[in-house]
Amino acid sequence: MQSLWQDEEARRYEGELGLRVYTSRLLGRDRSLVLHGGGNTSVKLDVRNRFGEEETILYVKGSGWDLETIEPAGFSPVRLAHVVRLAGLERLSDPDMVNELVTHMLEAAAPAPSIETILHGCMPFKYVDHTHADAVLAVTNTPDGARRVREIYGDEVVVVPYLMPGFDLAQAVARAYRREATPRTIGVVLLKHGIFAFGASAREAYERMIALVSRAEAYLARHRAWDVATPPDPAAAEAVAPEEIAGLRRRISDAAGAPMVLRVRTTAQSLAFARHPEVERLSQQGPATPDHVIRTKRTPMLGTDVDAFVADYRSYFERHAPHAREPKTMLDPAPRVVLDPRFGLASAGRGARDARIVEEIVEHTIDVILRADALERYEALPARDLFEVEYWDLEQAKLRKGGKPPVFAGEVALVTGAASGIGKATVAALLARGAAVVGLDRDDSIATLHDRPDYLGLRCDVTDDAAIRAALRDAILGFGGLDILVLNAGVFGASQAIAEVSPAEWRRAMSINLDANLTLLRVCHPFLKLAPCGGRVVVIGSKNVPAPGPGAAAYSASKAALAQLARVAALEWGADGIRVNTLHPNQVFDTGIWTESVLAERARRYGLAVEQYKTNNVLRTEVTSRDVAELAAEMCGPLFAKTTGAQVPVDGGNERVI
Ligand code: ZN
Repeated sequence: MQSLWQDEEARRYEGELGLRVYTSRLLGRDRSLVLHGGGNTSVKLDVRNRFGEEETILYVKGSGWDLETIEPAGFSPVRLAHVVRLAGLERLSDPDMVNELVTHMLEAAAPAPSIETILHGCMPFKYVDHTHADAVLAVTNTPDGARRVREIYGDEVVVVPYLMPGFDLAQAVARAYRREATPRTIGVVLLKHGIFAFGASAREAYERMIALVSRAEAYLARHRAWDVATPPDPAAAEAVAPEEIAGLRRRISDAAGAPMVLRVRTTAQSLAFARHPEVERLSQQGPATPDHVIRTKRTPMLGTDVDAFVADYRSYFERHAPHAREPKTMLDPAPRVVLDPRFGLASAGRGARDARIVEEIVEHTIDVILRADALERYEALPARDLFEVEYWDLEQAKLRKGGKPPVFAGEVALVTGAASGIGKATVAALLARGAAVVGLDRDDSIATLHDRPDYLGLRCDVTDDAAIRAALRDAILGFGGLDILVLNAGVFGASQAIAEVSPAEWRRAMSINLDANLTLLRVCHPFLKLAPCGGRVVVIGSKNVPAPGPGAAAYSASKAALAQLARVAALEWGADGIRVNTLHPNQVFDTGIWTESVLAERARRYGLAVEQYKTNNVLRTEVTSRDVAELAAEMCGPLFAKTTGAQVPVDGGNERVI
């Protein structure tokens, strides 16, 4: 473990709160310290209030902020005196505690302060850092963890047995600290949860965290429990058919009651763990720190029997819910983590980002489990403690309020010709509606069109059947299935009268505009059939279908055949719940084909100014790629739920079509 502190970088952050931001980000940057929203930090600062009086304010990480990307606005400014007074109460429920903290902040618009706020307030140090460091979790998730922590740190840390985060934990830590701290004490270890480090400056607290965690790493190394990296497995993953993955995703989505993204991750680590002779004992206890239960659920599913997992989850809920203080509502019982000896790991989430977070947590958890087991024996918290966190009041309250997810949350779309024009705009429109999107294009730029976990750009020539199959396999392994297919790739070709059409040009138009789409439809059909909310296909046709023009025989004929193919698909696939609709755009000038010179040349030919030419339609309006893309996306949504086989113009109104 290395300190990432750099003087030059630190100078870019202003004041004591600025340095609080800086070292929080340094902690967040190291995934072996905190993962996605985990951990929290604080600083106590004297500020002058509106009456000119000096007051100490506890700036503590606000909920909804990630340490890696936190800003000054991500810290909730709570009056320290009130926090300390609260700590003296006999008892305080979580909702009451949150209410007290939120009503004693300096900024009405600040985020709700961390659930650990009272704990931060009780520690007599200016800077307090808290992480769920992998190495500390590996040491403390063992039967003899408490003794080991004392052996590593002596009186430099105070050791506190596990308690649910919140008011009781804050009091327990404050009491233990008063009783056991010495002038040498610089931190606290919470068994099976994480570690705190303190300092008079941001740098001191941060570097003490690094030093403390490094000692846990060194301890593991001394006990031959650090290096658990898996050598590449000689027996590589068995090829699992993409149809099987899509079937699994369908069953998980059905159990969840909503579409889920499923991400397969076949690595030496995930394969070795899924094939571990003791995978059942190692994986079925629970996560290494209780926070993770909200993302991963308590246990992974071993194999692919979703019904059995759901039955187990129900009995876990029914066993523990009656002991809770207030009635609990069962969360969806679908697994979030799948371990299978054939493909290793698969992670599920309501979106690609969630699935990726689950995956990262599992990869860290596997190392923690194997290290704890090499040291002594992995021993997670009892199920009732994990249940308490999974079904925590405040999480349940959030659930009851629950914002509406985006319309395509958990769904997967594939768009062809996605690197430019209408295809590119369609990718953006689908991403904006919450879908995970796979973009295909011949252009290399497709790979880097977006840099986000819900986008996968694949270079693919759609006239190459093998390339289509390979791309689809990558799409299924990346996101688990296919719900939406947008057939957009096409070519216009040179203007040629029928007498002059070269057979090669004709074949090229037919091959790209028609044959490739036939292959795509056929290859995608089994996956669209498995879509949890029904498959949807949008075909980008052309005004030339209802109103062809001279000199564009190959283009018009190929697009007309495509439109007819779409109508037949609508007929054949209706029973599978798949809707197939066609859009006929016209004069979309913000695409690659329409360079400024082509546009000027065309306008001149019609004796119009460029602007007149662009809006040369019934509504006198310009049609953009975005207009077409937005309609394509809407046709996949609830508005068109009862429509299939339709052909809708998006052309500003064309007299010949009307
Ligand atoms: Zn924590």
